[in-house]
Amino acid sequence: MTKIDERLVKGYQKFRDTVFESDRALYEELATSGQKPHTLMIACSDSRVLPQQILSAGPGDLFVVRNVAAMVPPYERDSGYHGTSAAIEFATTVLEVDNIVVLGHAGCGGVASVIDQNMPSDSFVHNWMRPLREWLRTHDDFDDQDNEERKRMLERAAVHLSLQNLKSFPFVKERVDAGTLSVVGFIFDIHNGDLSQVKAQQRVTLNVESLA
Ligand SMILES: [Zn+2]
Repeated sequence: MTKIDERLVKGYQKFRDTVFESDRALYEELATSGQKPHTLMIACSDSRVLPQQILSAGPGDLFVVRNVAAMVPPYERDSGYHGTSAAIEFATTVLEVDNIVVLGHAGCGGVASVIDQNMPSDSFVHNWMRPLREWLRTHDDFDDQDNEERKRMLERAAVHLSLQNLKSFPFVKERVDAGTLSVVGFIFDIHNGDLSQVKAQQRVTLNVESLA
């Protein structure tokens, strides 16, 4: 049998003896009554971006889907394996969350791959980032920026694009229009812990407002 990495075993034991022990009643209550998270969080898989930690959220608070670059794909009704879309559908129509948050971050490898072109053209990542690559192709205003600045702008554009794609899901749009669902985009800066809201004011220059 495969040996389990000690770091995983020790990490679990620590959780069981400390965090779970002190939250035991909450876990029991959630197990009995079911989940009623207030927010669907769509975050990057990056190991340095911890949605629950950043928002001081506990068990039952956030319904989280994480993928490369926190991308929301366009709404596509076909027989593909649409994992992120399935999570959006479940959170919106079954759990009826109050908010959807797209959480991008500075220094995102998925976003950088669009500019650096360092993933093979037959890779899953290359295909997953296609909507952002297409967005970049039609926004050549980016060309006069240096590479790092282009990446920062594209990180904001990725969040903006995901917010736009979210509204292509009929059950999301319906609830946003009715005022029962709020959809927001954040960028987390790993360097200094800043959390900013992405607000699309123009075609390319995306305004970022700090929440601090
Ligand atoms: Zn990332």
